[in-house]
Amino acid sequence: MKHSNISIFVPHIGCPHLCAFCDQRTISGEDKAPKPDDVRRICAQALDEISSPENTEIAFFGGSFTAIRHDYMTALLEAANEFVGEGKFRGIRLSTRPDYIDDDVLGVLKKYNVTAIELGAQSLDDEVLAANERGHTAQDVVDASELIRRYGFELGLQMMVGLYKSTREKELATMRKIIDIRPQTVRIYPVVILKGTKLGSLYQSGEYQTMSFDDVVELCADMLTEFDNADIKVIKCGLHASEFVERDMLGGFYHPAFRELCEAVCYRKAFDAEINKTGLSKGIAEFAVPSKNLSKALGQKKSNVGYFADKGFELRLVPSDDTNDKYQVINIWQ
Ligand code: SF4
Repeated sequence: MKHSNISIFVPHIGCPHLCAFCDQRTISGEDKAPKPDDVRRICAQALDEISSPENTEIAFFGGSFTAIRHDYMTALLEAANEFVGEGKFRGIRLSTRPDYIDDDVLGVLKKYNVTAIELGAQSLDDEVLAANERGHTAQDVVDASELIRRYGFELGLQMMVGLYKSTREKELATMRKIIDIRPQTVRIYPVVILKGTKLGSLYQSGEYQTMSFDDVVELCADMLTEFDNADIKVIKCGLHASEFVERDMLGGFYHPAFRELCEAVCYRKAFDAEINKTGLSKGIAEFAVPSKNLSKALGQKKSNVGYFADKGFELRLVPSDDTNDKYQVINIWQ
C-alpha cells in the first residue's frame, strides 16, 4: 500500500539559522507558522478524506522542527498526536538539523509518537558545509544519525546537490558516506538559487559558478542508481513544483519533472551498457519495460530514441507487466 504524508509547513520561524541558500518562506510557500489548532483542523479534515490513514504520517516540514521554541514544538506535537493510533494515522515525521538532535529531544519525540526523523545533511564535505554557512559539520550528521537509530526512529537524510564550492567528486563522496550511514530514506534536492539569499549574491557576482543543468541531471541519475543498488529508497529527487520557487529563482537546477529527467538518463545508461556488451556498432535494440515506465525509458520528447539513433541503433521498447523488473533485454541484433 502506498505511503502518504499530510504535510504541515513550519516555515523559517522554526529555524534560528540562515544557511546561504535558504529563504525558507519561499521554499515552503507559506509565511505563517501553524498554531496547534491549525494542526488539529488539518488532521481532522485529512482523517475524513483519506481512505488508508494507517499508511499515512503527519509530516512537519519546512524549517528545523527541533530548533523551534520547546513549548511551541511540544504544543504542535501534542495536537498531531491526538490523531495518531488505532483507526487514525500511523505516526508523525519531521525534518530538522543534525545539530538539534540530542537525548532530551529524542525522548520528547518518542513520547509523542514520532516515527521518522529526516536530517538536512545537505553535504558531508566540511568545506562545502562551511562555504554554505550551514553551521554544522559532517561529523554532526554521522553522530545525530547514530543517535536517531539508537532510539529506533526511521532515519531519512536529505542532500543538496550543486552547492557553492561543491564538485561532482564531492557529491559522489557525500553519496557514498550517506550509503555508509544506511538511512531508510534519502531526498535529493538539486540547488535552487533564490533571490535575497547569500548564494543569490554569490551567483550574481559571478563568484559562484554552477555545474551545468545536464551534468547535474546526469549526477543525480547516477545517485538514483547507486542508492537503488544499496537498497536505500529515494523518496524525492528535485524540489516539488511551486510557483514561489519559479518566481524567486535566479538559477540552479529546477525542473517540474526533475526526477523523470534523471530516470530517463538511468534508462539510457542501462540500455547503453547492454548494447556495449554485444560489441555491435549498429543495429536494433529491443527491451521490455513495465508499461508505467515506458515514457521514462523513452525520455522527454523521446530523447533516448534520438540518442541511440545517433549511435546507429533503433531503440524498440515493448510494454511489459508493471510487476516486472525495470527492463529486460529481448534482443539486440544487427
Ligand atoms: S537550517 Fe534549514 S530552515 Fe534553517 S536556514 Fe538552514 S536551510 Fe533554512
